[in-house]
Amino acid sequence: MRAAVTDYCVELSRNPLLVQGSGGNISWKDAGTLWIKASGYGLAAAAAESIFLPVDLRHLRDAIARGDFTAAPKVLTDTPLRPSIETLLHGLMPHPLVLHLHPVEVLAHLVRRDADDSLRSRLPPAVRWASVAYAKPGAALARALAEALARKPKADAIFMHNHGVVIGGASIADLAGMLHVLSEALATTPRISKAIPPAELPAAAPHGYQRVADQEINQLACDPWLFERLTDAWALYPEQVVFLGAQAVTCDRLADLPAVDAGIAGAPPVFVRGLGVFVPPGFATTRLVMLRCYYEVLSRKTDIAAIRTLGAAEVGELVDWDAEKYRAQLIR
Ligand SMILES: [Zn+2]
Repeated sequence: MRAAVTDYCVELSRNPLLVQGSGGNISWKDAGTLWIKASGYGLAAAAAESIFLPVDLRHLRDAIARGDFTAAPKVLTDTPLRPSIETLLHGLMPHPLVLHLHPVEVLAHLVRRDADDSLRSRLPPAVRWASVAYAKPGAALARALAEALARKPKADAIFMHNHGVVIGGASIADLAGMLHVLSEALATTPRISKAIPPAELPAAAPHGYQRVADQEINQLACDPWLFERLTDAWALYPEQVVFLGAQAVTCDRLADLPAVDAGIAGAPPVFVRGLGVFVPPGFATTRLVMLRCYYEVLSRKTDIAAIRTLGAAEVGELVDWDAEKYRAQLIR
């Protein structure tokens, strides 16, 4: 099973609309063991490194049965790695294989206020699905998922508002088939940004900032509609907030670029109106991937009133979160 899962991880990680950086995880159950991806490692690393950890499945299910969603998964090997922070989601699903992703085409619906109506109007009737309102990843999200599964025990796909989807199946083919159905049914035509970032910058950027090479990402600062969204539709899902910050840092002139303050997960990108997106020295590739993902999700929205952003309290508990700090350190 490990070889088949590894191949599938590598295949998935080649599609940036499905997998972004270290996000997403996969597991399989083997008798009393749940094999789960380690936290902080991308699915792309599956081929090169041993990133799957054995976790005591009975211990996990006992905790779930007691309603204890804070139980730390018991790793059955001596390793400095930690299992995914979303391990409990995998233990909750009854399926032999479980895949959790934050696919762009799915997220574009999950950040809507009317997410469930939007899903219902597009998903084929044969898809057995349930959904949960936004909850902080970890214990709160696991509890919400357990409640959803209690209501719909046969669900093979659980949509998590402002977050992503969990898919269960008996085989890799099941997972791939469901992912294909969801991607097709939920695909949205992105709006085309027409703004062209100026080829020449008026001056060298201060503090060592550099404009990103990806012209789609630069649209976030150069397309006036997208630039406005940095203020009113920034915090859309946990990964984005964790890797890019609680708020978008914007300014109108290169000279206004702030001094670089590394902080726990590195200094944030800065959106300079009309000029592009500027990143400080050493800006991690994973965070560029997150910028691109945010652009992709946002460019699939033209109706700003329909977007549900995370509230201030929800954002606050994400940026001060030990598990994510650990992950943010790993990606630096
Ligand atoms: Zn997730």
